[in-house]
Amino acid sequence: MSNDVIFWTQIASIVAFVFLVFGLYRLLVDQKDATIQFLKETVSILKDQLVDARRSTPDVLAQSLSGRVKLLEGELERLSQDKDANQELVHSKEEELRATRQKAEELTKQVSLARELLSDFLCPHCGSALTAREFHSESVEYQGRELDVDHEYSEYECGYSILDGKPHSPCNSGKGRNASAIKYA
Ligand SMILES: [Zn+2]
Repeated sequence: MSNDVIFWTQIASIVAFVFLVFGLYRLLVDQKDATIQFLKETVSILKDQLVDARRSTPDVLAQSLSGRVKLLEGELERLSQDKDANQELVHSKEEELRATRQKAEELTKQVSLARELLSDFLCPHCGSALTAREFHSESVEYQGRELDVDHEYSEYECGYSILDGKPHSPCNSGKGRNASAIKYA
């Protein structure tokens, strides 16, 4: 074989390899840094081979291949940077999401606590406000002895009242809200 044939065979195999690597790069764009590193090393080896080839016979084809390798290197560099940027972005978004979720949980707890506290001050039927809450003791005689009995009385705007935990007078509001509406409003 003449030197020319050897040279062109070498160039052809390099061209094929470059296209193979470029195809692989396209396929592995979303894979790990290790893959990118491997491709970078491969490109570096190819570049050395091309430099050798150019030294032995200066050729336009070798120059265009060299340009192609540079392009590929640039793309890999950009990809690698994009990947870092995306990872940082994803990480910061994850942090933001975690903090927001935590805030939402705290807020939900506070709201449910407030609702619990508030429910005691609202008519369970219509949600009207508490107007009076009284406590008083009553002395009763029971089997010849005096006993103090404590009473609790709550009255709401709508007329509803509770005496010792039991309904004492009805809710006169026509609002149609009920206890569950207050609980889950
Ligand atoms: Zn009521």
